[in-house]
Amino acid sequence: MIDPVTLTQALIRRPSVTPADAGALDVLQAALEAVGFACRRYVFSEEGTPDIDNLYARLGTAQPNFCFAGHTDVVPVGDLAGWTVDPFGAEIIDGNLFGRGAADMKAAIACFAAAAGNFAAGHPGFPGSISLLITGDEEGPSINGTRKLLEAIRAEGEQIAHCLVGEPTNPVRLGDMAKIGRRGSLNGLVTVTGVQGHVAYPHLADNPAPKLARLMNRLVELELDRGNDHFQASNLEITAMETSPGAENVIPAWARCRFNVRFNSDHTSEDVERLVRHALDRELIPYDLTIKISGESFLTPPGKLSGLIVDACRAVLGVEPELSTTGGTSDARFIKDYCPVIEFGMASGTMHKVDERVAVADIHGLTRIYEEVLRRYFAG
Ligand SMILES: [Zn+2]
Repeated sequence: MIDPVTLTQALIRRPSVTPADAGALDVLQAALEAVGFACRRYVFSEEGTPDIDNLYARLGTAQPNFCFAGHTDVVPVGDLAGWTVDPFGAEIIDGNLFGRGAADMKAAIACFAAAAGNFAAGHPGFPGSISLLITGDEEGPSINGTRKLLEAIRAEGEQIAHCLVGEPTNPVRLGDMAKIGRRGSLNGLVTVTGVQGHVAYPHLADNPAPKLARLMNRLVELELDRGNDHFQASNLEITAMETSPGAENVIPAWARCRFNVRFNSDHTSEDVERLVRHALDRELIPYDLTIKISGESFLTPPGKLSGLIVDACRAVLGVEPELSTTGGTSDARFIKDYCPVIEFGMASGTMHKVDERVAVADIHGLTRIYEEVLRRYFAG
């Protein structure tokens, strides 16, 4: 049997700050192989990005294949002096297990493994398979991770029927919230080009700054929608603004601003770009706009998969999680193109912070919830 607390500690003691793996996947693979998983590793490379190690593990050969997905990479420790413990020491103090990645999301990965091991031991010959899809590139550029891993295993004939991502979804307590969708994310850069000159001779220059200000106003006033049954309203935020470097007596040559749009399931990224261009065009000011899409919005409508999480939480904790689409993006944005996907993991209060930690009781609780999900899933 896998002890999820010991496995969480072993994973935290591998300082796998993206793109480093530091042996984290080896620790996980050894634990999974001991309970019968067949493991495959995939190193992906791409020009200009670091090589990343990934793991796909499967227990059983039958369909349906229920997949747990996640990442072993972690964000940097940040302000080391702000930590009261060694961020990679995995100490347990007063019932809390401390360490970078405890909440996001090494404990959840240990819970995947322990729940799968427990379930398989109690249900030999269960009608299906359990798999783990684990990347080392979620907190980084996400180029050599989940997206390529999904493509690679599909090319090898693997099919995933349903997927549960173990991101920390609970704002305060285990059982608060599961995520059934995510907003999309789009980054834009608007540039207005003028003519640089002396501030005392403005008729010999063309100042781009006030023109950009007018365009920014159009962006800020743009109402994309008012939200829908499952999502809050889409939102655009200005994230940066600057002009060409100069001095107090120089009219700048160019001015530009960056913005980010978090958009709901009312729109594709193409819709958002069209609406943004339409708003900017109304000023009749020449501008240049470049757009980068980080992910499309998606929704797994409440149904069988969300019902499994809700029922499992009720059975184990006596509470029903809210089904939400709030928060940032996750690798679920890639998985949604393959199968229905839902996210449920640890409490998120300390993720990415100093003194990141999870309650030991929650590690046991989440293991039981995942085990209950498997039991109900394979009971049909
Ligand atoms: Zn995460």
